[in-house]
Amino acid sequence: MKITDHIKNANGKTLFSFELLPPVKGQSIQWIYDAIDPLMEFNPPFIDVTYHREDYIYKQQANGLLEKVSYRKRPGTVAICAAIMNKYKVDAVPHLICGGFTKEETENALIDMQFLGIDNVLVLRGDARHADSSFIPTPGGHCYATELLQHVKDHNEGKYLHEDVKSDDTSNFCIGVAGYPEKHFEAPNLKTDFKYLKQKVDMGAEFIVTQMFFDNQKYFDFVKKCRENDINVPIIPGLKPISALGQLIALPKIFHIDLPEDLSEAIQDCKNIKDVKKVGTEFMIQQCKELIDFGVPVLHFYTMGKPEQTYDIAKAIF
Ligand code: FAD
Repeated sequence: MKITDHIKNANGKTLFSFELLPPVKGQSIQWIYDAIDPLMEFNPPFIDVTYHREDYIYKQQANGLLEKVSYRKRPGTVAICAAIMNKYKVDAVPHLICGGFTKEETENALIDMQFLGIDNVLVLRGDARHADSSFIPTPGGHCYATELLQHVKDHNEGKYLHEDVKSDDTSNFCIGVAGYPEKHFEAPNLKTDFKYLKQKVDMGAEFIVTQMFFDNQKYFDFVKKCRENDINVPIIPGLKPISALGQLIALPKIFHIDLPEDLSEAIQDCKNIKDVKKVGTEFMIQQCKELIDFGVPVLHFYTMGKPEQTYDIAKAIF
């Protein structure tokens, strides 16, 4: 079922959902099931699975020289989605990215998703490879989420890359996109970032999932600005509880977000990791309660495959 229909059917009740990342190559799919099992108690109507571009690693050769090798550390997104739908009878939402795919490979992924009965897709540009200082598109691939979105829309209309392909069965993917309450880090300002977000919605994106944030006011302002700009699709807040002291530095660095002073001070005062998780969990429970009062359609958690804290938070609010 489309995410937009799940939201409609909830009649204003806030839903619970979460995001997982595929296991590292070589690890069993049981890792995914262990991350999902405890959270099924809260009836997620959908579960997201991230996509990861190839990266470069350096392998030492017999002669001592280093060889640069392309390596995809976490493959399996679409197959994991199929396994989730089969085992748990809930919708699974694959993330589809521009980086690492030629247009042909994107088309093949869309055909796989269509045949597997996947109804939703989150369309993204994708992160830069770790070795690159900024995003470098794959030759023959898409450069921006808008281009990938157009590709999914064309697929929904039965248009293939090769015009001679005749389609007798079209897909009907419900397309989601990313939004950034604190601005995407590459955008020169919020106004420009909004221009492209609006373009994504005007082109047919039916829901937005936000980057994580810890200050609800930033989300409220973002929603207000979206509505003022005639962006009227559901805006699903993305949430991540703090679980380690190092995240005070890592989260702002990686995700280009601010942490509120009271949260960072409380974390810094913690004596051990158990206390850090307790503070992070309690902060997130309060954040979620305020978001529910605001009327958010879904609380969407970035679990990173670790369900414990999300379980405690969901238990306290659902
Ligand atoms: P875009 O919408 O393409 O925007 C990228 C930048 O370019 C922005 O600064 C925008 O303002 C600008 N821009 C957009 N369109 C144009 C244009 N036509 N011309 C000029 N400038 C333009 N990354 C992964 O690799 N895998 C994942 O699974 C994944 N999941 C994510 C889930 C969520 C909810 C979020 C918020 C992020 C996720 N990311 C993921 C990270 C995401 O790929 C990065 O934040 C990436 O840098 C931007 O992706 P985007 O889709 O927002 O890009």
